Amino acid sequence: MQRLDSLAQDADLPDADPASSLKGFCSAGRGYWGNVSEADWNNWRWQLQHRIQTPEQLQQLMPTLTPEEVAGARLANHKLALGITPYFFNLIDPADELCPIRWQVIPREQETHTASWEMSDPCGEDSHSPVAGLVHRYPDRVLFMVTDRCASYCRYCTRSRLVSNATGYDFHPNFEAQIDYIRRTPSVRDVLLSGGDPLLLSDEKLETLLSRLRAIPHVEFLRIGSRIPIFLPQRITPALCDMLRQFHPLFLSVHSNHPRELTTEVRDALGRLADAGIPLGNQSVLLRHVNDNPEVMKAHVQKLLMCRVRPYYIYQCDLIAGSAHLRASVRRGLQIMEALRGHTTGYAVPTYVIDAPGGGGKTPVSPEYVLSRNADRVVIRNYEGKLFEYPEASDGTPLFEAPREIEKSEWV
Ligand code: SF4
Repeated sequence: MQRLDSLAQDADLPDADPASSLKGFCSAGRGYWGNVSEADWNNWRWQLQHRIQTPEQLQQLMPTLTPEEVAGARLANHKLALGITPYFFNLIDPADELCPIRWQVIPREQETHTASWEMSDPCGEDSHSPVAGLVHRYPDRVLFMVTDRCASYCRYCTRSRLVSNATGYDFHPNFEAQIDYIRRTPSVRDVLLSGGDPLLLSDEKLETLLSRLRAIPHVEFLRIGSRIPIFLPQRITPALCDMLRQFHPLFLSVHSNHPRELTTEVRDALGRLADAGIPLGNQSVLLRHVNDNPEVMKAHVQKLLMCRVRPYYIYQCDLIAGSAHLRASVRRGLQIMEALRGHTTGYAVPTYVIDAPGGGGKTPVSPEYVLSRNADRVVIRNYEGKLFEYPEASDGTPLFEAPREIEKSEWV
């Protein structure tokens, strides 16, 4: 009886925000590496040298691996390498088989299952590559693959056919041909450095690369795509930020998928980049078991704003071979967009895109807000589902008479 009373009282309280527990900032902590010196732990090269790269290391650190994960770890280095920085490993909850961090970086046996519609190059990058390591798909911009190494490897990587194959942290072997193509192509005004992860290069190498690009008069705008601030925030040193600030306008796209990735270390690293005047955007991939939940995604985009990062894109997961277990449906993606638009700050609402399979490019997809367009009005739906009319003539001329009333049945 007493319990029923207390439940009745609770029912009168306003609902707690279920996402609020995801929005706190915590440190990743030291985990198994408590004896490592502060200097080593905060040294990005130490983190790279001590990555978890073998099934034996993984099993030793995480005896709770499932049979699918053990099998996946054994097979991983035949396809996309296993690699997890100690810092990022500490975000995994070993007791939780559904931990959203775990699903992103621990290989699973399902990676060997491929369907006939899955591809090794789902975005058709290789067919838009005028020189190896450069993709020129859109009219005025190119994707410049700087290296094929990453700090950790995402199990859903669109470029798994390319990354993790190299032997060192040097420029792409075709570096001079990549630069030469841009120099010879005046339509290229925007260069996106990606990879692999460009921020794995040393400061000196990156400075050389950015200087070479800045010396090309028609290159107006530089961008770096990187998951390093998330996998290895120790790399975002004051010296790196000082070097990057010489090359404005320079934007940086971070890749983060879940609010738990936004730790105090990441928030501080992103703050250093923002203080260097670098506009920051975020790209998330919609992933089953990770962020295919409106409350999780809402907490994530709001937390990104607190890190001074504008949510930029949510990508539908590409049809990469062996990724079916991680792909969420487009229907789910649309539900998430519906739960964001109007329900939170407009700056927090990214664009949801599908990279059209086979090389069609990024195509925005959105819930339907325009219900009908007639000769004299547009009927729209707002985020609450209420309907409104906006009068206008179909040819764009000013409208001086109100359109006739229409029945709701005509709106859909
Ligand atoms: S960081 Fe980017 S390029 Fe590297 S494995 Fe992850 S998704 Fe692929």
